[in-house]
Amino acid sequence: MQTHSLVDLSDRFAPSDRLPVVFLGHGSPMNVIEDNTYSRAWTELGRSLPRPEAILVVSAHWMTQGTTLVDVSEMPRTIHDFYGFPQALFEQAYPAPGQPHLAREVTALLKSHRAQEDDRWGLDHGAWAVLKFLYPEADVPVFQVSVDMSRGLTHQLEIGRTLSLLRERGVLILGSGNVVHNLRAMRHGGTPHDFALEFDAIFADRLSHRDFTGLADADRLGALLPEAHPTLDHYLPALTIAGASDERDDLTFMTDVIDLGSVSMRSFIFHTN
Ligand code: ZN
Repeated sequence: MQTHSLVDLSDRFAPSDRLPVVFLGHGSPMNVIEDNTYSRAWTELGRSLPRPEAILVVSAHWMTQGTTLVDVSEMPRTIHDFYGFPQALFEQAYPAPGQPHLAREVTALLKSHRAQEDDRWGLDHGAWAVLKFLYPEADVPVFQVSVDMSRGLTHQLEIGRTLSLLRERGVLILGSGNVVHNLRAMRHGGTPHDFALEFDAIFADRLSHRDFTGLADADRLGALLPEAHPTLDHYLPALTIAGASDERDDLTFMTDVIDLGSVSMRSFIFHTN
């Protein structure tokens, strides 16, 4: 296991027939218009990753109930799904094309997980806020897959497992959320909460030991889980990415810090070299 708090990813991902799977802690939308540790790390990661044929994004901000939706639109719109932020954020656009053909295949692949086609969503800020740095030219086709909030933690591991075969087809599977995400406990410029440090450390330890069932076991996570995640939306995409990895992969962490007291920016990449 290797840990990188700052940008240090050059030459890490050797060319491979099998694309890495990536989870990014996206944090505050302000990261889009700030030159900071996170946005610089995303830029560096984009330069280090092989160029994919398409990108499938599982974002914390597309939540559905009872179904997994797959965006089959030709040109996904940029969604500005936040309030009270500077105008510069509302002027952002990420005009990457969709990949309707592949998205329909993914819908079929996830049929047993109640998947359905959708052409109304587009790209929410969980997707475009990081893609702007990973692939600034917006020239790689991208489409989102929603998070079914009704099915629980293990379900997202299974979704990841099912999607993992796309890695051999040049598809980059990208999860976007946060390993710890409690907005009510945020403190600007403050030190990290104990619960945030503790949950983040447990997550990193279990991920490193490939104890994915331990990451998806609400009983074992106990009272820390609702503290770290009053709602599970930002946690579930991390499980999708864990589920899409296997024993052939190495694990690299980056930006493993707590921001704003209660938001883990920990990101990770599973990659086969
Ligand atoms: Zn978010």
